[in-house]
Amino acid sequence: MKTRQQAFDQIKNHKFDVCVIGGGSSGASCALDAQLRGLKTVVVDAGDFASGSSTASSKMVHGGVRYLQEAVNDLDAGQYNLVENALRERQAMLHSAPHLTRTVEFLVPCFSNFEKIYYGLGMKMYDWIAGKSSLLPSRILTREEALYRLPAMQHEKLVGAVAYADGQFDDARYGLAVVETFERAGGIALNYARVIGFGRDEAGKITSASVSDQMGRGTLEIEARAFVNATGPFSDAIRQLVSPGAVPRMRPSKGVHIMVPLDGFSDRDAVLIPKTEDGRVIFGIPWNGRLLIGTTDTGYTPGEEMVVKPEEIEYLLRQINPYLNSPITADKVVAGIAGVRPLVAAHGVADTKKLIRDEEVEFDAGTGLISILGGKWTTHRLMGEETIDRVQEYLGTHSSSRTWNFPLAGAHGYTEDYWQTLVKDFGIRASLAQYLSRKYGTAAPEVLELTRVDRWLAAPLVVDEAPIRAQVVYAARVEMAVTIEDVLARRIGLQLYSWRYAMEAAPIVAELLRRELGWSGKEEEHALETYLAAVNHMISMAGQTPEPAPLPERELIMERK
Ligand SMILES: Cc1cc2nc3c(=O)[nH]c(=O)nc-3n(C[C@H](O)[C@H](O)[C@H](O)COP(=O)(O)OP(=O)(O)OC[C@H]3O[C@@H](n4cnc5c(N)ncnc54)[C@H](O)[C@@H]3O)c2cc1C
Repeated sequence: MKTRQQAFDQIKNHKFDVCVIGGGSSGASCALDAQLRGLKTVVVDAGDFASGSSTASSKMVHGGVRYLQEAVNDLDAGQYNLVENALRERQAMLHSAPHLTRTVEFLVPCFSNFEKIYYGLGMKMYDWIAGKSSLLPSRILTREEALYRLPAMQHEKLVGAVAYADGQFDDARYGLAVVETFERAGGIALNYARVIGFGRDEAGKITSASVSDQMGRGTLEIEARAFVNATGPFSDAIRQLVSPGAVPRMRPSKGVHIMVPLDGFSDRDAVLIPKTEDGRVIFGIPWNGRLLIGTTDTGYTPGEEMVVKPEEIEYLLRQINPYLNSPITADKVVAGIAGVRPLVAAHGVADTKKLIRDEEVEFDAGTGLISILGGKWTTHRLMGEETIDRVQEYLGTHSSSRTWNFPLAGAHGYTEDYWQTLVKDFGIRASLAQYLSRKYGTAAPEVLELTRVDRWLAAPLVVDEAPIRAQVVYAARVEMAVTIEDVLARRIGLQLYSWRYAMEAAPIVAELLRRELGWSGKEEEHALETYLAAVNHMISMAGQTPEPAPLPERELIMERK
């Protein structure tokens, strides 16, 4: 990708067909769809790409068995259509980036034969709706099979389980891959660029957006023929900036996930807890050697801090523990993440659990603003297509979407055993090769080439853990990372693996970013302090004891000398 400076300069010198506001899954998808249709496109995000809801998901590429249950229970055609569309899109999403996705079997524990039949029939219906895009047929497992695959499960009451398949993906890297693919197709993407106002023509139509650079480069005017509002849960803010009287449409809801060690769970099978105290389902999903447990669904108060709270941890553990032999305790939580669902208001529905996770393309005829509201990660491609269809209608042009099965950055030539090429070509151990090939696909050699130039970059960021230093350099040079959090929370993902490991790695990341981004010593110190304080804040908000700050890398190097 371009550097921020290059992107910034190019935006100043161009007029665009389409300006997309928001670089989460919806915005990135709109941008890619538009650019592939030949429309000159720019996408800007107020923060980092995919740093909002798009990195706080359950990381499932799914139709949504809960929505299916609601479709059946409430005879709700809207929920049914959502499941059907999402199951079709699931296939395209897995196909476009096989290195960032995989098929996982979800086991639903059953404590009676009635439950086996009930959930078994439900999952057969899920298979049936998926039709040709079914990943694996669902099936009923005996008690022995279920215990073999999930030894952590309650032995005494279990009579068996129902297994069904869904997709799983790396949300942060998938988002980045869509942005990178968009750039390679000729588009321009800029992170940390917040839209703060609009210019209009005499008829009131938007013709430009004022963008404030969050990294201190001042403001920028982006001229474009069409503007897409893809700001997720905060879409109303842009709608109201354009039309101050616009009626709010979003009903955001908060959802948290916690991460615990995999003890007693397998690295391949997930568990679906079919009943919670608030009538939902929750999941325990293997994720990079940990178990991701989520999610909650509670009201969101505007301005609320996105942190995991002790009562949310307790809630999640209270739902999963009755299904386990030995309960998971709150002190086992090693990391967590909170996010906001961008739900759209449906008439007469106040309960966020009942709001349809469907999308809506809204066109404001007075100003020309096109907003993509709602939706979910799994349907991001379709959302992009529908939005750009509307953009073309507005611009009076026509060409078809090309994003279906379009290979994303890193997908060209990728196969499941691609990691072996890395072992052969770079002489690295199998576990590191597998890790890198799953993060970067066929771009992994670009990361490893850096270690040939500087052997120091081959060292791990944290002792015995997979991420290596070269990934930080790659993140800064190629992936537009400009903060420690960009690197650890999204480009590498260590922050979700362990808050403490992320803090341990932070000094080296700061040091590498100083070299790559030309920071002064003071800037490095400030970036490190800010990051450590932010992670420690997350730790203490989750009810755990904060960590002492590790020494900056330069002081560690001096100590070693
Ligand atoms: C807890 C939880 C679990 C979920 N699990 C799943 C799942 O397993 N599978 C699934 O398919 N979906 C899931 N979802 C839904 C999915 O994550 C979201 O629907 C999707 O990520 C929304 O993407 P978005 O781009 O619309 O919003 P966001 O990712 O929030 O992106 C909006 C972007 O707009 C930017 N922005 C805001 N204001 C401005 C401005 N003024 N100027 C420029 N940029 C601006 C923000 O910085 C942000 O990056 C889950 C959601 C949550 C919260």
